[in-house]
Formats: sequence, C-alpha cells, structure tokens
Amino acid sequence: MKIRVGFGYDVHRLADNRDLWLGGVKIEHTQGLLGHSDADVLIHAICDAILGAANLRDIGFHFPDTADEYKDVDSKLLLAKTLEVITEKGYVIGNVDATICAERPKINPHIPQMQKVMAEILKISQEDISIKATTSEKVGFVGREEGFAAYAVALIEKK
Ligand SMILES: [Zn+2]
Repeated sequence: MKIRVGFGYDVHRLADNRDLWLGGVKIEHTQGLLGHSDADVLIHAICDAILGAANLRDIGFHFPDTADEYKDVDSKLLLAKTLEVITEKGYVIGNVDATICAERPKINPHIPQMQKVMAEILKISQEDISIKATTSEKVGFVGREEGFAAYAVALIEKK
C-alpha cells in the first residue's frame, strides 16, 4: 500500500453583506468571507491538502477563479470534485486534520456539523476528519478580524 500526505493553506478576507460558510456549514456572523466562490476557507484548505497529497496541483488549477462556472459556487461541490480527481488516480482518503484560525465567532459549536457534512462528501467516517479552531490572540490579520485562515493535512492511500 502506498501512503502519501499533503498540506493545504488558504486565506479569505472578511467583508460585509456576505454569508459565512465554513466546512460546508452556514454560520451566523456579522460578516462573511469574500471570494469568487462562497469563500469557504476550510474546504479550500482541505481540497489543497488532498490534491497536494496526490501531486495534482491545487484548487485554483482545477477550478479557476476566472471561470464563470465557479462564480459563487458552493465549495462542497469543489470538495466532491476533488475526491473525483484523486479517485481517478486510484487514491482513497485515509484521514484529514484541519485548523481554522478565526477571532470570532465561536467555531467549536459548529464542528460536529462540519465533520458530518464533509465526511459525507468525502465518503469517509466522521472519525477520519478532524477540525480544530483557534483564535490569533488579536494579533495579525486574523486577530484584527480582517480575515480567516485555514490549514489542513490529508493522508491518502493507494491499495
Ligand atoms: Zn479559498
């Protein structure tokens, strides 16, 4: 069995009059993340980790932000397509571990729902998708509430 690991990182700016989507879940907040898609920073970092593990470039390569097709797209669709791309190359996902960096709102209460939504899309157990959240202690762009960042690693296997 061949085992590979990949890493993903993403940032989106916070803006008024935008919905906040994180891990495929809509969260009540005074602002949302800005982007060509729904700007789900957590899903994007996870997509990049999975694609990176398979050495299949990154999310921008597969789903360009210049394409009208991906304007305001639901990132859950990108996650599903990411799974398709690595499945074609013969890989299955072992596990995913991710961290969201956000000053506000509280992310922890939403984590079980994010795990449920993303595990279903990735066809893995909720046990195999770990999500953590941290603030930035009011330091830097996350601390100033200018944006959110997300980091992820993914392990994939080929039988
Ligand atoms: Zn993104």
